Amino acid sequence: MKHVNILGVPFSITNHSTLVEQLNQHIQKHEKSFVITANPEIVMRANQEEAYMKSLHRATYITADGIGIVKASRLLGQTLPERVTGYDVMIEMLKLADLNHYRIYLLGAQRDTLEEVKKHIQQFYPHIQVVGSHDGYFDWQHNTISEEIMQSSPDLVFVALGAPKQENWIAEHIDQFNKGVFLCVGGSFDVIAG
Ligand code: UDP
Repeated sequence: MKHVNILGVPFSITNHSTLVEQLNQHIQKHEKSFVITANPEIVMRANQEEAYMKSLHRATYITADGIGIVKASRLLGQTLPERVTGYDVMIEMLKLADLNHYRIYLLGAQRDTLEEVKKHIQQFYPHIQVVGSHDGYFDWQHNTISEEIMQSSPDLVFVALGAPKQENWIAEHIDQFNKGVFLCVGGSFDVIAG
């Protein structure tokens, strides 16, 4: 996939539907992938924190979460076709997961929010198998989350820890996993919980 480099961050030149299709193919082929939807704050932070820039560079796809990024790409002459937000990708992936009976893992948000998200998924996407979950308030060094994910072998892992935690968490652990689409979804669990 072609990229446009905006202040050191390589954005994938793709639209929403192509990305969703590609992620579905990764799942079907049991391939691992890591998706970041980056807004201007993320790009600015990466320019201030080298470790965060390195985390971003581990991603398989970085999409433009915000019209500012799309406009910047136009100025550089390699236009990103549209905004692709974590929430929108999550909703499409939930639909596909329901259709294909995929296994999902939910990481992030407050415990009660997470329970509401699980209820919502059971009600509206009844064929999804939620194989595990963990709230987003854990000791970074001492936890068994990545082991749980490995053992439950999800097709999709939604990570809602907010930026920069979600990108850093996936970058730090991605080598441990053999498969799974790891998607950073920011505040999407709060939106779904209502
Ligand atoms: N969050 C979390 N752990 C943390 C910090 C935040 O699970 O240590 C969750 C928070 O509860 C919320 C989500 O991350 O559900 C996104 O937070 P925010 O809206 O600040 O992030 P953004 O969407 O702006 O990246």
